[in-house]
Amino acid sequence: MTDVAGRFEELAKLVPIPYPWDTREYIARVAEFRGRPIVLCPIDPDALSGTGCGTGSGLWIARAEDDVIMFGAETELHADHIIAHEVGHMLLGHDTSPADPDKPADQGEDLPLATLMPSLSLDAIRSVLRRRDYGTDREIEAETFADMVMVAATLPKRTPSRLRSTFFRARHR
Ligand SMILES: [Zn+2]
Repeated sequence: MTDVAGRFEELAKLVPIPYPWDTREYIARVAEFRGRPIVLCPIDPDALSGTGCGTGSGLWIARAEDDVIMFGAETELHADHIIAHEVGHMLLGHDTSPADPDKPADQGEDLPLATLMPSLSLDAIRSVLRRRDYGTDREIEAETFADMVMVAATLPKRTPSRLRSTFFRARHR
């Protein structure tokens, strides 16, 4: 399994976590970093019938031109956590290599994705369903990433720049 704490530190430098927390701002930064727009798509919490990511109600769909994050949550906090989980999959590169190439693709033909998002092509949906199963390790990694984002977003920030300016002041007193 990847050292998520180490990767998180690196990634938080590349894509700073807004403090105070701001979901739209964070998503904008992730989108800019990846060079691809991200579309947030709220869905009914039960829409994926627990077959989605994390707690079962999130889904990342990588389309040709953009990324779609679907999230079904009762509360804003839960929504933020699902979104951070899907961002974890993105930034940890979980789409670039199959977790277990020998494992047959998960069948999810009964998922009502076309109804959830009529603008998605059937091909896009199929590729999601093929890739939807990231494997347990990657699910844990994405969940850990989301926890770390949420902690970083709520704790007072200790940025290198602030440390530097403190040092600077001390030296020139
Ligand atoms: Zn996941």
